[in-house]
Amino acid sequence: MTRYLIIGAGVAGISAAEAIRSVDQSGDITLLYDDADGYYSRPGLAYYLTNEVPEKQLYAFQEDDFHRLRLQRLHASVRRIRPSEHKIELNDGRLLPYDRLLIATGAAATPAKAPGVELQGVVKLDSLEDARRILKLSRKAHSAVVVGGGITALELVEALRAQRVQVHYFLRGDRYWANVLDETESRIVEHRLKEEGVQIHYQTELAEINGKNGQATGVRTVDNRQLRCEIVAVAIGVQPRKALAEASGLKVDRGVWVDEFLRTRTAGGGALPGGEALPDVYAAGDVAQVYDPLAGKAVIDSLWGPARQQGYTAGLNMSGQTRAYRKSAPFNVTRLAGLTTTIIGAVGGRETDADLLEVARGESETWRQIPDAIAAQADFDVNRLRVLVGKQNLVGAIVMGDQTLSQAVHHLVAEQADITPIREQLIHPNRPLGDILAGFWADWRQQHGAK
Ligand SMILES: Cc1cc2nc3c(=O)[nH]c(=O)nc-3n(C[C@H](O)[C@H](O)[C@H](O)COP(=O)(O)OP(=O)(O)OC[C@H]3O[C@@H](n4cnc5c(N)ncnc54)[C@H](O)[C@@H]3O)c2cc1C
Repeated sequence: MTRYLIIGAGVAGISAAEAIRSVDQSGDITLLYDDADGYYSRPGLAYYLTNEVPEKQLYAFQEDDFHRLRLQRLHASVRRIRPSEHKIELNDGRLLPYDRLLIATGAAATPAKAPGVELQGVVKLDSLEDARRILKLSRKAHSAVVVGGGITALELVEALRAQRVQVHYFLRGDRYWANVLDETESRIVEHRLKEEGVQIHYQTELAEINGKNGQATGVRTVDNRQLRCEIVAVAIGVQPRKALAEASGLKVDRGVWVDEFLRTRTAGGGALPGGEALPDVYAAGDVAQVYDPLAGKAVIDSLWGPARQQGYTAGLNMSGQTRAYRKSAPFNVTRLAGLTTTIIGAVGGRETDADLLEVARGESETWRQIPDAIAAQADFDVNRLRVLVGKQNLVGAIVMGDQTLSQAVHHLVAEQADITPIREQLIHPNRPLGDILAGFWADWRQQHGAK
């Protein structure tokens, strides 16, 4: 009987367990986790904080589901892996043997560096426990400062507004999320935030958090302004939780390095891929740095969908199948200042190559040609579609508001559909971008039998 150990009860770990069980009915699967709340939806935390989802609903798995998979669960922290002995070492000194091991330890929020980060009232949003702390602090707080430029920072802004806390939002640059959104999209988001009463402070950085009796009382900015607040919420990025792999002599770069079968290697020496293959130790999810054939390099995703796919693929390989992980074009549905926004493929980085053209349309168009498309938001007051057009295919897109076209565009990007027949129309000013894409998608789908 094969003994499987999975370190991490996030979506990567759970998906691996599902895959293993689909192949191996008799193996012994143990899931270890150091977050006492076990498996829950991290993306759901934002909705929990705005009171849209009760805590109970964050748990996708009930006791029955764990039973069905015959999963043993152990709330414990893993200190080290001893690959040569096929054992892991827990923080309390216990040793557990394994035949196949998965490292699915996820990522953690990057801590702020400013003096005062240890004060009560300084928060991040990584876990359910963090979310509970934010709700508790919000009951007594009048105002908060939020620092950070991405999705999580915005979720914190909205969470605090929903809890009726006055919010000062610090942006390092002169607009929101400039490395992904274009100027119009940033301004749409900022405008909506301002309408909600959020005070945005552009080109503003945190220098220090002040406190009294261990409690945050305000901040000082780099340009020496003082602001009073009881909460300082920081979301300046995430870092793979790779310390365990590092301490165990595994090959680690920005994350835990894995090959296309999600197998790790020993650290060895020299550049990637070096060291010796560790055929019984796998890694998946936010902690893993996986080779992306499209980008031509090993990348870290930090997204739910890829974590699930990687976990599932790792699980199949752990149980004796041979399955390569093929990264698909990113597809991230999120909400920015209440506006459903889908980010598809490669849209970031203004330094992109000269062959790419950007085309955007908004407001005046409605896209209703695809009857069975999913419209995630019905009563939108903003519609915007921006596509990045390559020489022969669509490279990426941002869909804000009406989501009618997002699945179609995702397919076209992911399948690298040849858009030569419509390229001229697409880049021609004032042509109905949405209609052109919808028509093209309808034909393409029929020809290729896509769903
Ligand atoms: C607030 C928030 C919002 C998000 N929103 C989105 C979104 O809208 N869309 C999207 O695609 N993604 C989103 N994400 C990212 C997404 O949640 C992650 O990509 C996904 O959860 C990663 O899953 P994972 O299984 O790799 O790791 P995790 O879910 O982080 O799980 C890691 C597990 O490892 C365990 N662990 C770690 N170290 C140890 C150790 N030493 N010993 C024992 N156990 C250990 C932890 O206890 C935990 O169970 C969001 C994340 C956050 C925090």
